[in-house]
Amino acid sequence: MGNKHTEERKPSKTKTPTFLLELPLVADAGQAARVGGHLEVGRQFYNAMLSAGQRRLRRMRADPAWQEARAIPRTHKQERRAAFSALRERYGFSEYAFHELAKELRVSWLAEHLDAVLAQTLASRAYHALNRVCVGMAKRVRFKSKSRGLDSIENKRNDTGMRFVLQTQDKGCRQGYLLWHDDQLRALIDWDDPVVSYSLSQRIKYARLVRRRASSPRAQGADSEGERYVVQLVLTGLPHHKPKHTAGTDTVGLDLGPTSIAIVPREAEARLEPLCAELRPDARAIRRLQRKMERQRRAANPEHYDERGRAKKRAKGAPRWKQSRGYQASRRRKATKERRLAAHRKSLHGQLVHQIVAVGHKIVTEKISYRGWQKRYGKSVGRCAPGMLIDHLRRTVASTGGTLHEVPTRSTKLSQYCHGCGRFVKKPLWQRWHQCPCGIGPVQRDLYSAFLAAYLDPADPIPSCARYVVPWEGAEARLRAAHERATQRAKEGQVVPRSMGIPRAGARLPQSPSEPTPEPVVLAPSRPAGNVEGTLRTPRDYAGGVFSAQSPRHHL
Ligand SMILES: [Zn+2]
Repeated sequence: MGNKHTEERKPSKTKTPTFLLELPLVADAGQAARVGGHLEVGRQFYNAMLSAGQRRLRRMRADPAWQEARAIPRTHKQERRAAFSALRERYGFSEYAFHELAKELRVSWLAEHLDAVLAQTLASRAYHALNRVCVGMAKRVRFKSKSRGLDSIENKRNDTGMRFVLQTQDKGCRQGYLLWHDDQLRALIDWDDPVVSYSLSQRIKYARLVRRRASSPRAQGADSEGERYVVQLVLTGLPHHKPKHTAGTDTVGLDLGPTSIAIVPREAEARLEPLCAELRPDARAIRRLQRKMERQRRAANPEHYDERGRAKKRAKGAPRWKQSRGYQASRRRKATKERRLAAHRKSLHGQLVHQIVAVGHKIVTEKISYRGWQKRYGKSVGRCAPGMLIDHLRRTVASTGGTLHEVPTRSTKLSQYCHGCGRFVKKPLWQRWHQCPCGIGPVQRDLYSAFLAAYLDPADPIPSCARYVVPWEGAEARLRAAHERATQRAKEGQVVPRSMGIPRAGARLPQSPSEPTPEPVVLAPSRPAGNVEGTLRTPRDYAGGVFSAQSPRHHL
């Protein structure tokens, strides 16, 4: 969150680079209860800010001047901006005005729990949430319910209020504490970890207290409510680089898909990999729990469904939905699994990012439309989170002094381009190979796009034939080798998305393409045939031998 705010500030403020260090905190029962109490007050204060701010926003939008300001054409930039800022001024809809409001709202009993600066950061948070609604980036704001609570609170500085201090104690061992009101929460610090010891030698800008749900009160480090506390330190400078993570100097072209990634450096070995394939079983387990919760919900609330089993529209005064104990248990279990999945995904992303950066720190890729992907491939985008991967890559590349160039897809259209003849030919999604009458190919299309990206000039991202003639001679064999390696891994049993243009593992191939294959029905009786990974493909999928990817459906 902190990063976001600094980005939105005016450029006149000098931005110093920051990074985060997270340390677990040890809280005894009393401390946990008191911190929980402060957070609860923070939650109420945040909701009060949201509600007051929402009133301001509504009044501002109801003003006829708002419609007039909207009617000013976007070409009249200054006039438009002046009209809107006059409105914001009049209705007190600005970060500054929210800080003033926070002073009024932070009355007696609240003030005991919430220092002025924390109230200010919460006010900023409420303002930014409402501002997203104001500028059309969000539909509504979300109030924090009592059961969910406020799970993080941050300071602006590290000298007053909630702050993190390092103390040298007897025998010269240093301890870190988060001080908040009268409590001292000890942080667990592993001084032998080079990342931790390096980070703690940097200046601390401010601290953020984060509460996380553990799977149960018996989980390690959890309090009696099943909650863990951690402190996130926002530090000045650049994050520590482990010596094993050295940055390469090559230029790397990437082609990122919803479930796969093609990595083509100018010099080194090319790769075609599925994204986060290891997460599949976890994702399936979560899906099973979701179905279980749906059954439990139905069993406990028959009055909310009509005779055909559809959920009724919620009428006014309708009875509340009941949550059985079993349902609550399933929900907790699912939440734990989801947290674990997210952590696993993060570490997989981290590994991949370091592998890419080890080859080269100048990276060229097409800017992808996450919105569009989310609509089209919601399930796999949710599992593989390619957007998060790019964000991670951008941060890592920047910290090594390299650059990530995201070129606009509209002008480059790498997936349609052929460098042999310079034509743009649209390929249907199922066509996983680039093969042009001019003699280029066949080559797996993602690898080919990544190759084109690697030799693109980010300053002028229009592909031109002349640029590619020489590199292609060396690259063709590398791309083919990359695909062969991927095929080999698939044969060894790795699950690969269909988008990679690899037929399923050889062991599962039907003996003769002409024989009917009854297996799909036998293997997966409860699933719709052909729609599930693991079901066999029909013989016609293999019609063209290895290079056939003419599956009628592009399944992800
Ligand atoms: Zn061509």
